[in-house]
Amino acid sequence: METGHDTVADWGEFGFIDNLRRRLPQASGALQLGVGDDAAWWRPALGNGVLTTTDMLVAGVHFDLAYTSAADLGHKALAVNLSDLAAMGSKPACAYLGLALPAHLKKAWLDEFIGAFLLLAKAHDLQLAGGDTVAAKELVISVTLNGLAPESEPLLRSGAALDDDIYVSGTIGDSFLGLQLLQKRLKSPTGNLTEVSFLQERHLRPVPRVELGEQLAASGVVSAMLDISDGVIADLGHLLTASGGLGAELDCQKIPLSEAGCQFVEAGLVSFSSLLAGGEDYELLFTAPQKAHDEIAEIASESRVALTKIGQINHQDTITIFENGIFKELKGRGGYDHFQN
Ligand code: ADP
Ligand code: MG
Repeated sequence: METGHDTVADWGEFGFIDNLRRRLPQASGALQLGVGDDAAWWRPALGNGVLTTTDMLVAGVHFDLAYTSAADLGHKALAVNLSDLAAMGSKPACAYLGLALPAHLKKAWLDEFIGAFLLLAKAHDLQLAGGDTVAAKELVISVTLNGLAPESEPLLRSGAALDDDIYVSGTIGDSFLGLQLLQKRLKSPTGNLTEVSFLQERHLRPVPRVELGEQLAASGVVSAMLDISDGVIADLGHLLTASGGLGAELDCQKIPLSEAGCQFVEAGLVSFSSLLAGGEDYELLFTAPQKAHDEIAEIASESRVALTKIGQINHQDTITIFENGIFKELKGRGGYDHFQN
């Protein structure tokens, strides 16, 4: 195995940590002590509590280095965790980064990875407070975030009620299409390179809806919320189960697609339902009573993120989709299960 002077083996664990430390700003605010000691010391005002989320990314399972750059991965590893905090309405505060690194990994690669991670952290006023670094056969990245709970209580999956409207932020299916393009399983019907790179970016560089999540929590009108990582259908299924076995009716015509996404549906290359089953949108899916319609519209215009009503909660214990003039019932709720796919 090649472990030359340009690899992380040459740096060693402590060389890397030293290098990392020099890239970090001084611990500030609630973070009293960051990277460098046996533990980080975080002293937030605990009025509303702390929300903690963690996600692991494994090479070959969650990402493919053939089409994922170091910077893409550094961004995405943090973005997917920020999306989980967003889904609770939480304000991000501290990050912890666990790295299992193959000895032959290039220093330059790790440098870029850290650079993109820290850039996104800075954009959200988030401090890297600690982590762990080990050697392993496969690259594994584990990110843990602490965020402050919103004053209005975190938004849970379990609060949906009968007849609530169901909303999604942004557009759906772009990440799925981007992945299909990256894997060369689909070709763009128009050959428009701007559209192709838009879709690929949506997969490689998701934008977590952090501020929107905070605004939705503060509004007090949202009854349940989660972020879409497994696909709209699967995640809506999670929300329905958590809310006591309710059902939902979706209207395919109302699913918000990007212009690039529309081209694929219009060309007959993908169905609406496949876009709803494809994962990693990292948009927010939430429910609110019908009377909250105007408030939701106001949040959409303030945040400049489209919030689209895609359906309604019913009591049927299943998800029904109205597509091409017919109702389809989805018994199995689809989406990605790590032990079943
Ligand atoms: P210990 O042996 O006491 O667990 P380490 O040598 O593992 O300490 O880590 C030293 C310091 O570097 C700690 O503050 C730890 O949080 C930090 N650290 C190690 N790896 C990372 C990483 N990948 N990202 C951020 N901080 C890290
Ligand atoms: Mg350690």
